Amino acid sequence: TTPTKESKVDVLIVGAGPAGYMAALWFARLGIKTKIIDKRSTQIFTGQADGLQPRVLEVFETFGFVDRAIKEVAVGYEACFYEPDENGLIRRVDKLPEGVPGISRFNGSVIHQGRIETWLSDAISEFSNGTLNVERPYLPQSLEIEAADAPTPSEYPVKVVLKKLPDDNASPEQFGHKVQNGLYRQFEGDQQNPVPGAESGDDLETVHAKYVLGCDGAHSWVRKQLGIEHKGETTDYVWGVLDIVPVTDFPDIRKRCSIHSKDGGSIMVIPREDGIVRFYIQLREGDHIATVDPAAEPTTTGEKKPATRVDRTKLTAEHILATAQKIMHPYSLEVAEMHWFTAYQIGQRVATAFQKDQRVFIAGDACHTHSPKAGQGMNVSMMDTFNLAWKLAYVVKGLAKPSILATYESERLTVAQDLIAYDLKLSRLFSSKPGEISTDEFRRVIDQGSAFTTGCTVNYQTSLLIDKPAAAEDNVTPYYSPLATKLAIGMRLPDTKLVMQSDARPWYLNQRLPSTGQFRVLVFMGDYAQTPALKAQMEAIGAYLAKPANSLSRLRADGVVQTMLIHASPQASVEWDDFPLVFRPRDERGVMDYWLVMADTPSRHEVTGNAYETYGIEKGVGAVVVVRPDGYVAKVVEPTVEGVRGVWDWLSQFVVGLTPAEV
Ligand code: FAD
Repeated sequence: TTPTKESKVDVLIVGAGPAGYMAALWFARLGIKTKIIDKRSTQIFTGQADGLQPRVLEVFETFGFVDRAIKEVAVGYEACFYEPDENGLIRRVDKLPEGVPGISRFNGSVIHQGRIETWLSDAISEFSNGTLNVERPYLPQSLEIEAADAPTPSEYPVKVVLKKLPDDNASPEQFGHKVQNGLYRQFEGDQQNPVPGAESGDDLETVHAKYVLGCDGAHSWVRKQLGIEHKGETTDYVWGVLDIVPVTDFPDIRKRCSIHSKDGGSIMVIPREDGIVRFYIQLREGDHIATVDPAAEPTTTGEKKPATRVDRTKLTAEHILATAQKIMHPYSLEVAEMHWFTAYQIGQRVATAFQKDQRVFIAGDACHTHSPKAGQGMNVSMMDTFNLAWKLAYVVKGLAKPSILATYESERLTVAQDLIAYDLKLSRLFSSKPGEISTDEFRRVIDQGSAFTTGCTVNYQTSLLIDKPAAAEDNVTPYYSPLATKLAIGMRLPDTKLVMQSDARPWYLNQRLPSTGQFRVLVFMGDYAQTPALKAQMEAIGAYLAKPANSLSRLRADGVVQTMLIHASPQASVEWDDFPLVFRPRDERGVMDYWLVMADTPSRHEVTGNAYETYGIEKGVGAVVVVRPDGYVAKVVEPTVEGVRGVWDWLSQFVVGLTPAEV
């Protein structure tokens, strides 16, 4: 059948889960013509992932909706560990802070995935003036990438045929249970179960796209079209998940708890929004876990099949609850409200590549799957497209060379591999019996993993978009420039509180660096009022940036670069007119921008004035710090004309139409 409809888009996103929504958010923000489709007829409303790591909350702040999260989420502050005592009854053996105190302004938080998708979707609507919405239910039928050496290269080299599904065919099977559950994995309309009925050209649409993003989850159709392997194994460990409002005498129910019982298995307790608590419960054979014939289902990748499997059609919330009650004994556990449940088998897999021809990319669960216990799936998935989409936007707008796109795979594949390695360790420990591992070892792994699970320790390596010396490369150790000895190049800019020069209002720096797609050149001019040499350098930089012929001023006009000045002289005793006009620009009406000069000094109202100390920048020397549109520190140079020219040279490697500085 020939499709009757055709459309052209810059980017087609297949799949509207957290990864797809985050990509759409960037594209809406940056004005990229996007189409996003999903095979389900509605978004999800309960269950699934629930953990938000501090780094993702920082990112939400840059898109302007973190306050919605703060109002609604449950926040983790304390973690308890339970072990069997000499009588075999569980008792608390330790109480530790949850996460890493001080690593971020935000603590790890929890709320169900549906709410998070709602915030993302509302923000997309707002940024796109209501023009970008998820189109449902659509299923892709075919994907073709034009050969790189095509005689007449097309501007839209990826062709995807989509099929509109009937609405009632696209609701996930709930296996007849009354309670919403996640026991489905596919439904009528999935590729494995083609929709029955005659096909008409009216149901089909050919989309011509510059780029395609496969954000279509663990069983990614896009990944399969690209022939990318998803390497790893499924283990025999099976876990149940219950989202309930509990009735219990367990004293730590509003804290995160890891409970190892003597014979019943393990539980993880995660307090949630609205009095809900999520329980991750280890299920054993007999708990409706069936032994399967490994030969019964062929494997596509040739890896070992697990020997057991959840019988999804028989398992009920009551079965999972009964196991939980056994593990929690002697404490009671009953249910006032049941919101959602599921069961899953732990498997750890990573895709061997995240793209094909730098035209079709995969992100999120399509690239990496693992157990949900470290609360990482949704977070890492969103951070994948947070990393990729601004780069695509730059290329689509003709602002950057396509060579920057290779940094997506190099940066995010490493994160995925680290995640899988951590999850493997954590899952084994969690699923083991007491005695098989020591409590100390268990807590050590959790402790080591705490920083990683905040999402704040991701360290991108040298590339076109991260400039650190080759000597700094061991792929693990953070690299600090001598000019900013606590600010790691390749890591996200840690937050700090400053005072706005113009009106003395205290601000967190992250609040002043919204995701607008700009590179920020932060000029740390030190205590220029006390240091005449710095004052002269500040004026020279101002004059350099102001030259009309200077490409940096052109870049600022293009919205690629925003320059800001952060000095360390007392805010109240220096004058507004001290600062070069490039940091106090006027718009076409003559109205001045008052928000580009900040002071790192004590405020009379709030605790401020630790930025130079936090970043390891000397107040008598200063530094220039370049921050990427996604908040990662890309480069550090000295605060001189020479230094700023170095930034310009660096940008000219990937910004279209720039040649190295002559001035
Ligand atoms: P997904 O959220 O899976 O989104 C993929 C989207 O693509 C879906 O909306 C899907 O309908 C759509 N799609 C798939 N195939 C196609 C296609 N061919 N065409 C069009 N659209 C398509 N994580 C936790 O941390 N804790 C949990 O308890 C937890 N439970 C989960 C339970 C279930 C049932 C599932 C599916 C996932 C669970 N996860 C959990 C994992 C977490 O939800 C994922 O890590 C996260 O959602 C990944 O985001 P994503 O956008 O990559 O993929």
